[in-house]
Amino acid sequence: MDMKMRDSEALVVFSGGQDSTTCLFWALKNFKKVSTITFLYGQKHSKEVEMARAIAEKAGVDFHLQDVSFISQIGSSSLTDTSIVMDQERPGNSVPNTFVPGRNLFFLSIAAVYARERGIKHLVTGVSQTDFSGYPDCRDSFIKSLNVTLNLAMDDQFVIHTPLMWIDKAETWELADKLGVFDLIRNETLTCYNGVPGDGCGHCPSCKLRNEGLNSYLARREAKQKNNK
Ligand code: ZN
Repeated sequence: MDMKMRDSEALVVFSGGQDSTTCLFWALKNFKKVSTITFLYGQKHSKEVEMARAIAEKAGVDFHLQDVSFISQIGSSSLTDTSIVMDQERPGNSVPNTFVPGRNLFFLSIAAVYARERGIKHLVTGVSQTDFSGYPDCRDSFIKSLNVTLNLAMDDQFVIHTPLMWIDKAETWELADKLGVFDLIRNETLTCYNGVPGDGCGHCPSCKLRNEGLNSYLARREAKQKNNK
């Protein structure tokens, strides 16, 4: 971390899920000031917005809710359209229908405009290429490309931070633990595609990924504690 970051403000793209909540606390550790922006994009479970608001309040950071529900009007996804049955797995080499086309493109672009108005240069997003479930806008190449584009678009010097890009779900739990927010993230975030907080419904693709990571981290932590005795 350079001194520039410690003196600066960061804007976290925040959904109230495991990944972006981990990013929020990562940012609180690394930046002088942190704000959050949460998007209303037509997600089926508006409960996640209320959980995001509660976490932001607890963390003592600004919470800005931005309506971008046009995203679900122009593109379709099983996360926003109740008539589409959710893909349980990635179908071959194509993207699963839980993909919301343009989501991260719009989120980060709008976050950058919002940040620019407030003199904020640092944007933080919880995307990860490691547990790549077929979402093209979670890849490092996309983020780097968009960073260049945003700087050109607004003649600015944004830096997009992706603390989770190269770590898997177990390591994301480990990071949460190191940041002292393991229990908060386990109990007070919502990652489940079926809208069940905490450990979730257990069977949707998002719960499977989260719980597998959790179990593998807990097993590793237990083994470490035994070795230390
Ligand atoms: Zn679930």
